[in-house]
Amino acid sequence: MMAWFKREKKRIEQPTPPDERRVKTEGLWTKCAHCSAIVWNKDLEANWRVCPKCQYHFRLNAIQRLELLLDSRWIEHDAGLTSSNPLQFTDTKPYAARLKDARRKLNMSDAIISAEGLLGGRPVLCCSMEFNFIGGSMGAVVGEKVTRTIEAAIAKHIPLIIVSCSGGARMMEGTISLMQLAKVSAALARLDEDRVPYISVLTDPTTGGVTASYAMLGDINIAEPGALIGFAGPRVIEQTIRQKLPKGFQTAEFLMEHGFLDAVVHRKDLKTYISSALDFFVA
Ligand SMILES: [Zn+2]
Repeated sequence: MMAWFKREKKRIEQPTPPDERRVKTEGLWTKCAHCSAIVWNKDLEANWRVCPKCQYHFRLNAIQRLELLLDSRWIEHDAGLTSSNPLQFTDTKPYAARLKDARRKLNMSDAIISAEGLLGGRPVLCCSMEFNFIGGSMGAVVGEKVTRTIEAAIAKHIPLIIVSCSGGARMMEGTISLMQLAKVSAALARLDEDRVPYISVLTDPTTGGVTASYAMLGDINIAEPGALIGFAGPRVIEQTIRQKLPKGFQTAEFLMEHGFLDAVVHRKDLKTYISSALDFFVA
């Protein structure tokens, strides 16, 4: 029988092998995680990585954040501070290898940049957290850098801004990472006694030990729209309190409504907002 349904002729020759046939658009477009709009990367960058269609705030890295907030150049402090890996911790991968990878990939020593520069012409100290560095987790280095920045703010009597973006304490440093909560909080109490203003900016996500310490201890605590902010994850809380959690719980807007935040500020207004808040604090 004639196999009429079979292709008898030779296939048309493909000019390019199938795995190379896809159009290379990677790096040109980004699909919005919220509204699924396809946004041209240049438009996204020009808009400080906020979706022009739905205003979804994409995550900024530590350097982009400093570029957003500070006037021009800044001086970086304690750039060389590195973790001593006190527990020689290993999970699916040795902690030392994780650190090495993150350092190589991001060209930074740990998950935070401590910068000194100008904001609206006013000298400020600004810590900016890097989520891509082991989930922006807070270990001894992050704790120490934040503490030193607070101490510098006290010594120089200039305002402090900390932009949080963190999964919480760094598990690979165990108790030592938890001790940072107390150390940083004590330093902030000294800052408060010396009446130096501290503005905390909570971005997506701010969770765990960072929420439980410096992120919620600002003279004013402000967040970006839609940011996930919390301590433990919703499942853990539901299991603990044996209650269903309300919708939208742990978003910046929900926390604002319930009195945990002072403001939810769109990224395009963030610098102006901080600047006028500092005008208010520093007469
Ligand atoms: Zn969108």
